[in-house]
Amino acid sequence: MSKIKLAELFYSIQGEGRYMGVPSVFLRTFGCNFTCQGFGMPRGELSNEIEDIAQVVHMFTKYEELPLVSTGCDSYASWDPRFKHLSPLVETDGIVERIMEMLPNNKWGDAHLVITGGEPLLGWQKAYPDLLRHPKMSELKEITFETNGTMRLTSAFKEFLADWTFGSDEREITFSVSAKLPCSGEPWDDAIKPEVVCSYEDIGYAYLKFVIATEQDLTDVEFAVAEYRLAGFKGPVYVMPVGGVERVYTLNNRAVAEMAMRKGWRYSDRLQVPLFKNEWGT
Ligand code: SF4
Repeated sequence: MSKIKLAELFYSIQGEGRYMGVPSVFLRTFGCNFTCQGFGMPRGELSNEIEDIAQVVHMFTKYEELPLVSTGCDSYASWDPRFKHLSPLVETDGIVERIMEMLPNNKWGDAHLVITGGEPLLGWQKAYPDLLRHPKMSELKEITFETNGTMRLTSAFKEFLADWTFGSDEREITFSVSAKLPCSGEPWDDAIKPEVVCSYEDIGYAYLKFVIATEQDLTDVEFAVAEYRLAGFKGPVYVMPVGGVERVYTLNNRAVAEMAMRKGWRYSDRLQVPLFKNEWGT
Protein backbone atom coordinates (compact mmCIF):
# COMPACT_ATOMS: atom_id res chain seq x y z
CA MET A 1 0.00 0.00 0.00
CA SER A 2 1.24 3.49 -0.83
CA LYS A 3 1.93 6.31 1.59
CA ILE A 4 1.55 10.05 1.17
CA LYS A 5 3.31 12.71 3.20
CA LEU A 6 0.28 14.56 4.44
CA ALA A 7 0.59 18.23 5.27
CA GLU A 8 -3.11 18.85 5.91
CA LEU A 9 -6.41 17.01 5.52
CA PHE A 10 -9.59 18.95 6.16
CA TYR A 11 -13.18 19.48 5.09
CA SER A 12 -14.21 22.97 4.05
CA ILE A 13 -15.84 25.03 1.30
CA GLN A 14 -13.82 25.49 -1.87
CA GLY A 15 -13.11 29.22 -1.93
CA GLU A 16 -11.73 29.70 -5.43
CA GLY A 17 -12.23 28.87 -9.08
CA ARG A 18 -14.66 26.52 -10.79
CA TYR A 19 -15.90 24.80 -7.61
CA MET A 20 -16.21 27.94 -5.48
CA GLY A 21 -18.79 27.26 -2.76
CA VAL A 22 -18.73 23.44 -3.14
CA PRO A 23 -18.13 21.37 0.04
CA SER A 24 -14.72 19.83 -0.43
CA VAL A 25 -12.14 17.61 1.21
CA PHE A 26 -8.69 19.17 0.90
CA LEU A 27 -5.74 16.79 0.85
CA ARG A 28 -2.58 18.87 1.04
CA THR A 29 0.53 16.93 0.13
CA PHE A 30 4.08 17.81 1.17
CA GLY A 31 6.67 19.04 -1.31
CA CYS A 32 6.98 21.74 -3.97
CA ASN A 33 9.43 22.59 -6.73
CA PHE A 34 9.13 26.34 -6.00
CA THR A 35 9.42 28.63 -2.96
CA CYS A 36 7.54 31.73 -4.24
CA GLN A 37 9.34 34.11 -1.89
CA GLY A 38 8.40 37.12 -3.99
CA PHE A 39 4.69 37.23 -3.10
CA GLY A 40 3.68 40.48 -1.43
CA MET A 41 7.18 41.96 -1.86
CA PRO A 42 8.41 44.80 -4.07
CA ARG A 43 9.58 43.41 -7.44
CA GLY A 44 13.01 41.82 -7.18
CA GLU A 45 12.89 41.39 -3.39
CA LEU A 46 12.30 38.14 -1.53
CA SER A 47 10.42 37.57 1.72
CA ASN A 48 12.23 36.55 4.91
CA GLU A 49 9.10 35.87 6.92
CA ILE A 50 9.50 32.10 6.82
CA GLU A 51 13.10 32.38 8.06
CA ASP A 52 11.86 34.03 11.26
CA ILE A 53 9.32 31.26 11.87
CA ALA A 54 11.88 28.56 11.10
CA GLN A 55 14.13 29.96 13.86
CA VAL A 56 11.49 29.00 16.44
CA VAL A 57 10.08 25.91 14.70
CA HIS A 58 10.61 23.83 17.88
CA MET A 59 7.75 25.80 19.47
CA PHE A 60 5.19 24.27 17.10
CA THR A 61 3.90 20.73 17.41
CA LYS A 62 0.91 21.06 15.12
CA TYR A 63 0.34 22.58 11.74
CA GLU A 64 -2.53 24.74 13.04
CA GLU A 65 -0.20 26.46 15.53
CA LEU A 66 2.03 27.91 12.82
CA PRO A 67 1.80 31.66 12.20
CA LEU A 68 0.12 32.87 9.01
CA VAL A 69 2.34 34.94 6.74
CA SER A 70 1.52 37.98 4.64
CA THR A 71 4.51 37.67 2.27
CA GLY A 72 5.95 34.67 0.45
CA CYS A 73 4.10 31.36 0.04
CA ASP A 74 1.18 31.13 2.47
CA SER A 75 1.45 27.32 2.62
CA TYR A 76 5.19 27.31 3.35
CA ALA A 77 4.96 24.43 5.83
CA SER A 78 3.80 22.14 3.02
CA TRP A 79 7.21 22.21 1.30
CA ASP A 80 9.90 23.77 3.48
CA PRO A 81 12.00 20.87 4.89
CA ARG A 82 12.34 22.67 8.23
CA PHE A 83 8.64 22.00 8.83
CA LYS A 84 8.46 18.48 7.41
CA HIS A 85 8.11 16.82 10.83
CA LEU A 86 4.60 18.34 10.96
CA SER A 87 3.56 16.33 7.87
CA PRO A 88 3.34 12.59 8.71
CA LEU A 89 3.71 9.85 6.11
CA VAL A 90 0.28 8.19 6.10
CA GLU A 91 -0.91 5.03 4.33
CA THR A 92 -3.62 5.68 1.74
CA ASP A 93 -6.10 3.47 3.66
CA GLY A 94 -5.60 5.64 6.74
CA ILE A 95 -6.21 8.77 4.68
CA VAL A 96 -9.46 7.32 3.32
CA GLU A 97 -10.67 6.46 6.84
CA ARG A 98 -10.02 10.02 7.99
CA ILE A 99 -11.78 11.46 4.95
CA MET A 100 -14.89 9.34 5.51
CA GLU A 101 -15.05 10.43 9.14
CA MET A 102 -15.13 14.10 8.18
CA LEU A 103 -17.81 13.82 5.46
CA PRO A 104 -21.48 14.39 6.42
CA ASN A 105 -23.09 10.95 7.07
CA ASN A 106 -19.74 9.43 6.04
CA LYS A 107 -20.74 9.74 2.39
CA TRP A 108 -19.30 11.73 -0.50
CA GLY A 109 -22.68 13.14 -1.55
CA ASP A 110 -22.04 16.37 -3.43
CA ALA A 111 -18.60 16.91 -1.89
CA HIS A 112 -15.55 16.95 -4.13
CA LEU A 113 -11.90 16.13 -3.51
CA VAL A 114 -9.19 18.75 -3.87
CA ILE A 115 -5.64 17.43 -4.03
CA THR A 116 -3.41 20.39 -3.35
CA GLY A 117 0.00 21.27 -2.00
CA GLY A 118 2.74 22.20 -2.11
CA GLU A 119 2.78 20.86 -5.63
CA PRO A 120 0.59 17.72 -5.62
CA LEU A 121 1.90 16.40 -8.95
CA LEU A 122 5.53 16.52 -7.83
CA GLY A 123 6.01 13.43 -5.69
CA TRP A 124 2.82 11.43 -5.23
CA GLN A 125 1.49 10.44 -8.66
CA LYS A 126 2.33 6.80 -7.89
CA ALA A 127 0.31 6.87 -4.67
CA TYR A 128 -2.96 8.43 -5.89
CA PRO A 129 -4.25 5.30 -7.68
CA ASP A 130 -4.16 3.36 -4.36
CA LEU A 131 -6.07 6.19 -2.69
CA LEU A 132 -8.69 6.53 -5.43
CA ARG A 133 -9.20 2.78 -5.93
CA HIS A 134 -10.21 2.29 -2.30
CA PRO A 135 -13.81 0.97 -2.18
CA LYS A 136 -14.93 3.85 0.04
CA MET A 137 -13.83 6.29 -2.67
CA SER A 138 -16.06 4.70 -5.30
CA GLU A 139 -18.81 7.31 -4.95
CA LEU A 140 -16.45 10.23 -5.40
CA LYS A 141 -17.33 11.98 -8.66
CA GLU A 142 -15.11 15.04 -8.96
CA ILE A 143 -11.45 15.66 -8.24
CA THR A 144 -9.47 18.85 -8.61
CA PHE A 145 -5.68 18.96 -8.70
CA GLU A 146 -4.52 22.40 -7.62
CA THR A 147 -1.19 22.61 -9.39
CA ASN A 148 1.37 25.19 -10.44
CA GLY A 149 1.25 23.69 -13.94
CA THR A 150 4.89 22.67 -14.29
CA MET A 151 4.72 18.92 -13.59
CA ARG A 152 3.96 16.46 -16.36
CA LEU A 153 1.69 13.55 -15.60
CA THR A 154 3.48 10.21 -15.80
CA SER A 155 2.11 7.92 -18.49
CA ALA A 156 0.98 5.44 -15.80
CA PHE A 157 -0.95 8.11 -13.90
CA LYS A 158 -2.45 9.50 -17.11
CA GLU A 159 -3.68 6.03 -17.95
CA PHE A 160 -5.14 5.60 -14.47
CA LEU A 161 -7.02 8.92 -14.64
CA ALA A 162 -8.37 8.12 -18.10
CA ASP A 163 -9.69 4.79 -16.73
CA TRP A 164 -11.15 6.52 -13.67
CA THR A 165 -13.41 8.70 -15.80
CA PHE A 166 -14.00 6.20 -18.62
CA GLY A 167 -17.66 5.38 -19.24
CA SER A 168 -18.93 7.76 -16.54
CA ASP A 169 -20.92 10.91 -17.25
CA GLU A 170 -20.49 12.02 -13.66
CA ARG A 171 -16.80 11.59 -12.96
CA GLU A 172 -14.59 14.50 -13.86
CA ILE A 173 -10.98 15.54 -13.29
CA THR A 174 -10.14 19.24 -13.10
CA PHE A 175 -6.72 20.84 -13.15
CA SER A 176 -6.80 24.22 -11.46
CA VAL A 177 -3.53 25.69 -12.68
CA SER A 178 -2.15 28.52 -10.59
CA ALA A 179 0.74 29.47 -12.85
CA LYS A 180 3.36 31.56 -11.11
CA LEU A 181 4.00 35.03 -12.50
CA PRO A 182 7.19 37.06 -11.83
CA CYS A 183 5.56 38.52 -8.66
CA SER A 184 6.12 35.05 -7.13
CA GLY A 185 9.89 35.47 -7.50
CA GLU A 186 10.11 32.37 -9.73
CA PRO A 187 11.81 32.72 -13.17
CA TRP A 188 9.35 32.91 -16.09
CA ASP A 189 10.86 30.01 -18.03
CA ASP A 190 10.61 27.70 -15.02
CA ALA A 191 7.07 28.71 -14.14
CA ILE A 192 5.22 29.14 -17.43
CA LYS A 193 5.03 25.73 -19.12
CA PRO A 194 2.25 25.88 -21.72
CA GLU A 195 2.98 22.45 -23.17
CA VAL A 196 2.56 20.84 -19.73
CA VAL A 197 -0.78 22.55 -19.11
CA CYS A 198 -2.01 21.64 -22.60
CA SER A 199 -1.26 18.00 -21.79
CA TYR A 200 -3.67 18.17 -18.80
CA GLU A 201 -6.45 18.94 -21.28
CA ASP A 202 -5.96 15.45 -22.76
CA ILE A 203 -7.23 14.03 -19.48
CA GLY A 204 -9.65 16.52 -17.95
CA TYR A 205 -10.86 20.07 -17.68
CA ALA A 206 -8.11 22.63 -17.06
CA TYR A 207 -8.19 26.31 -16.30
CA LEU A 208 -5.66 28.99 -15.47
CA LYS A 209 -5.95 31.00 -12.26
CA PHE A 210 -3.91 34.11 -11.54
CA VAL A 211 -3.68 36.36 -8.51
CA ILE A 212 -3.49 40.04 -9.45
CA ALA A 213 -2.13 42.81 -7.24
CA THR A 214 -0.82 45.46 -9.62
CA GLU A 215 -1.01 46.72 -13.21
CA GLN A 216 2.32 44.96 -13.82
CA ASP A 217 0.71 41.64 -12.79
CA LEU A 218 -2.05 42.32 -15.30
CA THR A 219 0.51 42.79 -18.07
CA ASP A 220 2.23 39.56 -17.01
CA VAL A 221 -1.10 37.68 -17.11
CA GLU A 222 -1.68 38.95 -20.65
CA PHE A 223 1.76 37.73 -21.78
CA ALA A 224 1.31 34.38 -20.05
CA VAL A 225 -2.18 33.82 -21.47
CA ALA A 226 -0.85 34.62 -24.95
CA GLU A 227 1.84 31.92 -24.51
CA TYR A 228 -0.68 29.32 -23.32
CA ARG A 229 -3.07 30.12 -26.18
CA LEU A 230 -0.26 29.93 -28.73
CA ALA A 231 0.51 26.43 -27.48
CA GLY A 232 -3.16 25.47 -27.98
CA PHE A 233 -4.57 25.82 -24.46
CA LYS A 234 -8.36 26.06 -24.68
CA GLY A 235 -9.56 26.43 -21.07
CA PRO A 236 -10.82 29.55 -19.30
CA VAL A 237 -8.77 32.13 -17.41
CA TYR A 238 -9.68 33.21 -13.87
CA VAL A 239 -8.26 36.22 -12.07
CA MET A 240 -8.43 36.70 -8.31
CA PRO A 241 -7.57 39.54 -5.95
CA VAL A 242 -4.40 39.31 -3.88
CA GLY A 243 -4.65 39.18 -0.11
CA GLY A 244 -4.41 36.42 2.45
CA VAL A 245 -5.80 38.90 4.96
CA GLU A 246 -9.19 40.59 4.56
CA ARG A 247 -7.81 44.12 4.90
CA VAL A 248 -5.63 43.71 1.77
CA TYR A 249 -8.16 41.59 -0.08
CA THR A 250 -11.04 44.06 0.12
CA LEU A 251 -8.76 46.82 -1.18
CA ASN A 252 -8.53 45.31 -4.65
CA ASN A 253 -11.31 42.77 -5.23
CA ARG A 254 -13.53 45.25 -7.08
CA ALA A 255 -10.63 46.51 -9.22
CA VAL A 256 -9.77 42.92 -10.21
CA ALA A 257 -13.43 42.17 -10.99
CA GLU A 258 -13.50 45.20 -13.30
CA MET A 259 -10.26 44.06 -14.95
CA ALA A 260 -11.81 40.64 -15.56
CA MET A 261 -14.81 42.27 -17.22
CA ARG A 262 -12.58 44.42 -19.44
CA LYS A 263 -10.47 41.47 -20.57
CA GLY A 264 -13.26 38.89 -20.86
CA TRP A 265 -11.72 36.66 -18.16
CA ARG A 266 -13.55 35.05 -15.26
CA TYR A 267 -13.40 36.59 -11.80
CA SER A 268 -12.93 34.31 -8.84
CA ASP A 269 -13.46 35.33 -5.27
CA ARG A 270 -11.32 33.81 -2.50
CA LEU A 271 -14.08 32.92 -0.08
CA GLN A 272 -11.64 31.49 2.46
CA VAL A 273 -10.45 35.02 3.25
CA PRO A 274 -13.76 36.70 4.27
CA LEU A 275 -15.31 33.45 5.58
CA PHE A 276 -12.45 31.90 7.50
CA LYS A 277 -9.72 34.57 7.62
CA ASN A 278 -7.50 32.21 5.60
CA GLU A 279 -6.68 30.16 8.71
CA TRP A 280 -4.97 26.75 8.45
CA GLY A 281 -7.50 24.04 7.73
CA THR A 282 -9.80 26.25 5.69
S1 SF4 B 1 3.94 26.83 -6.10
FE1 SF4 B 1 2.34 27.11 -4.55
S2 SF4 B 1 2.92 25.81 -2.81
FE2 SF4 B 1 4.71 25.98 -4.15
S3 SF4 B 1 5.86 27.65 -3.22
FE3 SF4 B 1 4.57 28.54 -4.83
S4 SF4 B 1 2.68 29.20 -3.80
FE4 SF4 B 1 3.78 27.81 -2.42
